[in-house]
Amino acid sequence: MKDLNKTIDNTKKKYREIFVQSLDAIQKRIDEIKPAGIETDVFEKYPKDSDGYNWQKNVLDMLLNDISKDILAKWTEVLAYRKEFHCNGCATCCNLACSEFSPEELKEKAKNGDKFAQQFTSIFIPYETREEAEKIYPEYLELLKNQGDVYFYHCPKLNECKRCSDYENRPQICRTFPDNPLDILPESCGYYNWRQEVEPVVLMLHSMVEIIDYYKEKIPAGKD
Ligand code: SF4
Ligand code: SF4
Repeated sequence: MKDLNKTIDNTKKKYREIFVQSLDAIQKRIDEIKPAGIETDVFEKYPKDSDGYNWQKNVLDMLLNDISKDILAKWTEVLAYRKEFHCNGCATCCNLACSEFSPEELKEKAKNGDKFAQQFTSIFIPYETREEAEKIYPEYLELLKNQGDVYFYHCPKLNECKRCSDYENRPQICRTFPDNPLDILPESCGYYNWRQEVEPVVLMLHSMVEIIDYYKEKIPAGKD
C-alpha cells in the first residue's frame, strides 16, 4: 500500500526547496535592475518619481508582465502535455469524489449558480457510510482522516462493467478531470505519470505566483 502521507510530506519538502530557489532567482532579477546608488531594498518607501520609486515600478512591471507571462506560457505547456496521456477507465474518480461540502451545501451552492456545484450534484450522490468509500481508495481516506470535514460521493451512472452509462452526456468536470496537476491521483490513473512528470515545474510555478503576490502586496509603489 502506498503511503500517501509520506508522498504529501515529500511534496511539501520539495515545495519548500523550490520556493527558496524561485525566491533567489526573482530577487536576482530585481537586483539586476536596481539603479546604482540605492542601498535599501525594494520594500522601502521612496519619494514619488525618485530612482527608488521608478525601480519599484519597473520591478512590478517585470513581475506582473514579463515573469507572469512566462508563468502562464509554462502552465499552458503543462496542460498541453496532458493530452499525451489518457484515461484508462480505472473508474476511481467516478467511484470516489471528495468535497469539503456536504450534499446540502452543494445543493445550495448549485442553486446559487455555482457551475462546479451544479455539475457535481448532477452526477454524484453521497456514500451512505465512510466504510463504503474506504473500499475504493483506502490510502486516500487514510490521508484525509485528520483533515476536518470531508464528504465522499460516487456516481450512479457508472455501470457494473465500470463504464459510464451516459458517456456522451457526461459533464465537463468528467471530461477535464484531472485538470490540476497537483491533484492526488491513484497509481491506476492514466494521468498519474503526467502528474509525476510535471510536478516539479508546477511547484515552481506555484512558488513564483506566491512570491509575486507577496511582492505586489509589499512594494509601496504598487499602491499608487
Ligand atoms: S458521469 Fe460518467 S464519467 Fe462522469 S463520474 Fe459519472 S460515470 Fe464517471
Ligand atoms: S482516475 Fe484517471 S484513469 Fe481512472 S477513470 Fe478517472 S481519469 Fe480515468
